[in-house]
Amino acid sequence: MNNFMEFESEVRSYVRSFPTVFERAENAVIWDEQGNEYLDFFAGAGTLNYGHNPEQVNQALINYLSNQGILHSLDKATVAKKRFMEAFYQTILMPRNLDYKIQFTGPTGTNAVEAAIKLARRVTQRSNVIAFTQGYHGLTMGSLALTANDYYQNQSYGGRANVYHAPYDGYFGSSINTAEYLRQLVEDSSSGVSIPAAIILETIQGEGGVNTAAKEWLQDIEKLCKAHDIILIIDDIQVGNGRSGEYFSFEFAGIKPDIICMSKAIGGGLPLAFTLIKPELDQWQPGEHTGTFRGNNLAFVAATELLKNWTTDDLSQEVHKKGCIIKDYLEQLVSAYPELDMSVRGRGMIWGLDIPQPGLAKQLSRVLFENNLLVETCGKDDHVVKLLPPLTIDSAQLEEGLRKIGFGIEELIN
Ligand code: PMP
Repeated sequence: MNNFMEFESEVRSYVRSFPTVFERAENAVIWDEQGNEYLDFFAGAGTLNYGHNPEQVNQALINYLSNQGILHSLDKATVAKKRFMEAFYQTILMPRNLDYKIQFTGPTGTNAVEAAIKLARRVTQRSNVIAFTQGYHGLTMGSLALTANDYYQNQSYGGRANVYHAPYDGYFGSSINTAEYLRQLVEDSSSGVSIPAAIILETIQGEGGVNTAAKEWLQDIEKLCKAHDIILIIDDIQVGNGRSGEYFSFEFAGIKPDIICMSKAIGGGLPLAFTLIKPELDQWQPGEHTGTFRGNNLAFVAATELLKNWTTDDLSQEVHKKGCIIKDYLEQLVSAYPELDMSVRGRGMIWGLDIPQPGLAKQLSRVLFENNLLVETCGKDDHVVKLLPPLTIDSAQLEEGLRKIGFGIEELIN
């Protein structure tokens, strides 16, 4: 095993965080090749909202393959694609009174962001974009310019061309409304922040430290966009698909983005990414933004099956209920260890425990791994322990995982 680890490039840090080789998994539990069992509170960084290997998805995939289902079709229409699109319209868009066209953009989240920005520039004929401090939108060149993180930005790639990183909600504490601050900069021709093609944001910054935007702030940003024909892009790649409690993370604010980027949990672990575009913005010419792997048929089969979770609001209610359990437990930890000066942020079932003392959050993640719980850290200085269990986790396992965090902190400080 150690030899294999040595061969692995260090470009992916998860190997170092979780130094073992995983073999199989079921819902919120994952086993390594030695048979050690871990609770998975990382869940593919928000990809496994519906858990590992949901039985009905595996069965649908087996049936599809047994019936010579088409694996690759380039962008030709297939039955798997048609069924997914019908299910998405009927289950997600129509009940929410939302009208969007779907554009499949490539296998992974960053492809959806690239497409969104390209279209916003084309529609507005402007080239600059506003993103936010601590935002994460992917690592291909266009998306990378939007990702506000020095480690990924590495100056040798040539800097953040044409992107202004505005302060996110709460950046200066609660007394300064950063949406109003941004409005003033955009409307003041002497500020150097000209009217952009698009404003792109996450309603909860998943990689940036589980920073949450308030509903009023999101509404103010939407107003700013409307006032100047700026395309509002919501990157719902990590916190969409029910993670926040509603299917889309912006629903609680009552806003209607111009473009929505979706990926991660939509395919339940199989690669799928798309943008949802307001119909009047769909100015693409046929084949103008195309590619070989746009719309994977197996992912369509899995995604269609997973959309059945949204025909009732049971899952949504479950997320809110379990989210309260997580929040209450983390808040108890904050009160129990005042010397650590910790704080808690989140919504639905994405929660961050901010541990400001340098290095402590990373150490906690390691201790938790040794105690069979997988959690990752996030934030500018890796100072936030991020909890992203599958939405379908069993309540007893959720509580067991939370208790492990309490024991882990105790172990660390003693
Ligand atoms: N946007 C957000 C909000 C993300 O969390 C991520 C991935 N962490 C991406 C974009 C990029 O997705 P991918 O890694 O699949 O390219």
